[in-house]
Amino acid sequence: MESAIAGRYPKFRARQIYEALYGQRKLDLRAVKTLPEALRTEFVSGAPEVESRYESVDGTVRYLLRLSDGKSVEAVFMPEQGRDTLCISSQVGCPVDCKFCLTALMGLERNLTAGEIVGQVLYIAAAHGLEPRDRQMNLVLMGQGEPLMNLEAVLKATRILVDPDGVGMSERRITVSTSGLIPKIEELGRAAVRPKLAISLNASSEEQRVELMPITRKWHLKDLLEACARYPLRPWESLTFEYVLLRGVNDSDADARRVRRLLGNLRAKVNLIALNPGPGIPFETPEPERVRSFQEIVRAGMPCFVRRPRGLDIYAACGQLKRMTDGEGLVRIGG
Ligand code: SAH
Ligand code: SF4
Repeated sequence: MESAIAGRYPKFRARQIYEALYGQRKLDLRAVKTLPEALRTEFVSGAPEVESRYESVDGTVRYLLRLSDGKSVEAVFMPEQGRDTLCISSQVGCPVDCKFCLTALMGLERNLTAGEIVGQVLYIAAAHGLEPRDRQMNLVLMGQGEPLMNLEAVLKATRILVDPDGVGMSERRITVSTSGLIPKIEELGRAAVRPKLAISLNASSEEQRVELMPITRKWHLKDLLEACARYPLRPWESLTFEYVLLRGVNDSDADARRVRRLLGNLRAKVNLIALNPGPGIPFETPEPERVRSFQEIVRAGMPCFVRRPRGLDIYAACGQLKRMTDGEGLVRIGG
C-alpha cells in the first residue's frame, strides 16, 4: 500500500497509516479520522475477513480467514489459564511433503505477504479482546506452510509485530517452526529481529527421517543438527525440537535414546506430539503409556514435554490444518 501512496501523498501519511493499522489496530481506515477523506475511502487495509469459525469443546477456535484475492487460510486461537496462544499460517498450503501432515495434501497455493501474516494476529486479537502488548499472548508460526520458505515476509511481519510503534509484542513470545531448511536457518540466525526457532525433528535417524520427511534427502539430518549447533542463540533462548510420535514407527525406547543422543550437545528442549490423525494419513497414534515412556527417556537428557492436543474435534490441532469445512464431519458456529 505504501507504494500506492508514495508520490501522491506526503510521506508522513504512510507512517500515519502504519501506526493506525498496527499500533492502534484500526483495521478499517475509514475510522482513522486524522487521515484526509480521500485516503480514508480510497485505500482498504486488506485485513483478512472471517469465512468460517469452528469452536472446540476445549475452547480452541479455528478460523478460516479470507484474503483479498479470495483464497483462505487458517489461524487458531488456543486459550489457556493465564496465557493465550495464537497459531498462524505463513503460506496457503505447504510444498513440503511430510507424510504425517494434512496440510501437505494441499500442496502450496501461495506465500502470504507480511501484511497477511500480521493480519491474522490482528484479526484474532480483535475477535478475542487480546492485547498483543500483553505478556500473556504467545504467537507460533505453526499453522499452514513452511515459514522459512517465505522467510522474507516472515521477518518483515516479525519486525512489525515487535516494533513498539507497530503491534508491540516481545520477540521472545514469537516462535517460528521449520521442517529444517538449513540455509534459511542460517539466514534467520543473522536477522537482527527474529522469532525463536523450533525444528520439526520427527525421527531419530537419517533413514527414518527420509521416509517421514522426504525433504531430508535435500537437507540431511546430520547437517541440520550441525546447523543447530552453530545457530546463534540469544542468552535467554533455547532451541525447541518437535517430535510427532507415530505408533510403531518412531516411538520406541530405542528411538527415544537416539533422540537424547542426537540432541545431547545442544541447548534444547523437546516437545512430543502424539499424532493427530486425519483422513489420508497412514499412521496411528501411540498409546499414552508409550508416550510417557518415550518422554521419561528423553527427559533424562533435556527438558521434554508432551504437547496436549488442542481442538482435535475441529481439525485445529498440529498437522490438521487443511481447511476442513462443513460436510467433512464438522459443525460450524456462526461465521
Ligand atoms: N511447517 C512447519 C510449521 C508447521 S508446525 C513445520 O513443519 O515445522 C506444525 C507442527 O506439527 C510440526 O512440528 C509438525 O511436525 C507437526 N505435525 C504435522 N502433522 C502432524 C500430525 N498429524 N499430528 C501431530 N503433529 C503434526
Ligand atoms: Fe509443511 Fe510442516 Fe506439514 Fe511438513 S509438517 S507438510 S513442513 S506444514
